[in-house]
Amino acid sequence: MKLSILILLFFCCVTQTKSQDTIPVLKGNVTISIEKGTIACDFTLSNIPNIEDYVIRINSGMNILYFKNKTSGSLLYFDRDRSDSTSFGESIAYFFGGTKGVRKFLPKEIEVRYVGMFPVIDTAKETMVEDWRGNIAFVGKTLRADGYQSAWYPIIFDMKKQILYQKVKYDVQVNCSDCKTLYVNGSKPIIGQSNNFKSDTPQELLLYCGNYDFENLDNTYVLNGKMTNTQLSDFGSLVNGFKKYYETKLKLKYNGDITFINTIPTAKKYGFLFVSYPTITSVNAQPSGLNRFIDTKASAFYKPYVAHELGHYYFGELLRTNSEFGPVFNEGFTEYISLKLTKDLISDSLYKVNVAKKIKSLKDFKPKAFSQLKTQSDFNNRDLYVYYYVPIVLLALEHELGEKKMWEWLNEIILSKTDFTNYDFLKRSLVKSLDKKLYEHIINSYFETDESLLNAIKKISNQ
Ligand SMILES: [Zn+2]
Repeated sequence: MKLSILILLFFCCVTQTKSQDTIPVLKGNVTISIEKGTIACDFTLSNIPNIEDYVIRINSGMNILYFKNKTSGSLLYFDRDRSDSTSFGESIAYFFGGTKGVRKFLPKEIEVRYVGMFPVIDTAKETMVEDWRGNIAFVGKTLRADGYQSAWYPIIFDMKKQILYQKVKYDVQVNCSDCKTLYVNGSKPIIGQSNNFKSDTPQELLLYCGNYDFENLDNTYVLNGKMTNTQLSDFGSLVNGFKKYYETKLKLKYNGDITFINTIPTAKKYGFLFVSYPTITSVNAQPSGLNRFIDTKASAFYKPYVAHELGHYYFGELLRTNSEFGPVFNEGFTEYISLKLTKDLISDSLYKVNVAKKIKSLKDFKPKAFSQLKTQSDFNNRDLYVYYYVPIVLLALEHELGEKKMWEWLNEIILSKTDFTNYDFLKRSLVKSLDKKLYEHIINSYFETDESLLNAIKKISNQ
C-alpha cells in the first residue's frame, strides 16, 4: 500500500493560468537527442501581447545564445527578474531593459536561440531523487516535457494581471534522429525522425518524443500504452463514460478528443498524472501501465485519478484560474466532481472510503478559512488543503444546497467571467445562486470561520 499512498500525494499539479487575451505564435525548430539528452531550439515568438511588466520564462537548464529583436534585427541585452514569485522554480524569468526610465521593453517579435542538456536516466542503473510535472525527463528512451511548468519553450507572463501565455499557435519543426515517434500536444503523433507540426488552435506545447508505439481508437490516441485492441476499447469506454457524466451533470459539453501518454518516472516510487489539455500524461513505473485503470481487480482504486484529470477540462481549461486562491478552484473543485463521479459511476463503497480517508488525513490539520487565503504559504500544506479540505467543504455545501443546485452553481462558476479567480469571485458566484439567509449561513459556517472543517464534517456526518 505504500506505493498507493505516494501516488495519492503526487497525483496532480496546479495550473495558474488565466485566460489569454492574445495568442502568441511560435515558429521555428527544435532538435532533440534522446540518447544525449539534448534540446536545441531556434524559435521566433510573434503576436506578442503589449505588456508593461512582463517576463519571459525559459527553463533554467537552457543556455541562451541570443535574444534578437526581429523588427530591428539587433541582439537584445537581457536581464533576470527575481520577483517572479508564482513560477514553480524550473524557469528563469528574462526581460529586456527599456530606455528613458522605462524598466522593461518588450519587442513585437523576438527570436531566441538556446541549447540545453539534461540527464538521461536508465532506471535499471540509476534514479533521480524525485520526479514532477515540470521535470524535463529523458527516461525510458523518451523525452517528456510539459509546457507551462517546464517552460522548455519561451513563455510570456504578465506579472501584474497574472496571465500566463503558455498557449501558443505553433508552426514548429521537430527533429530527432534517434527517435521513432514524435508528438506535440494538440497534433497527431507521427512515426518519423522529423516533422513540421502546426496548430492554429492555441496549445500548451507539451512534448513526448522517443522510442515508443501508439494506438488510436476513434481519434483518442494512446501513446506508449502497450494496449491490446480489447484493452484500448475498454479504456475508451471508460473515458467516454466519464466525459458523458460530467457533461450531463454540469450541462456543459466536453469538447475534444483526449490523447493519453503512458510513461515512466525518473525516480523510484513516483507516480502521478497531469493534464495539458487535450493530453493526459500518466507517469508510473507499474508494468501494467494504463491497463491499471481497466484491469478488473485494482482498477476501481485507480479510476478516480482518471476522473480527476478529466475533470480539469472544466476547472482548469474552461475556467482558467489565477491568484493565490486559484488552486481552490483548480484542484479542490476538480477533486469534488471526481468524488461525485466515483460515487455515481465507480463504486459507492469506494466513495465512502475515499471521503473517510480525507477526513482522517485532516485530523490534525488546521486550515485557514477561505477568506484568509492571501499567499501560497497560507495553505500551510497545499496538498491537504486543496485535495482534502476543499472537497470536504464542498460536500458539506452540497448537503446545504442540495445536489441539483450544487451542480447548477458549478456550471455558473465555470461560465462566469472574471479577472481574478479569488475569494470574492467565489462569493459573487454563490450570491447569485442562493437566497440571502442560506448565503450568509454558508459564509459564516464554512468560508469565514476557523471552524469550517469541523462544521463541514459535522454536516456530512449528520446525513
Ligand atoms: Zn489536478
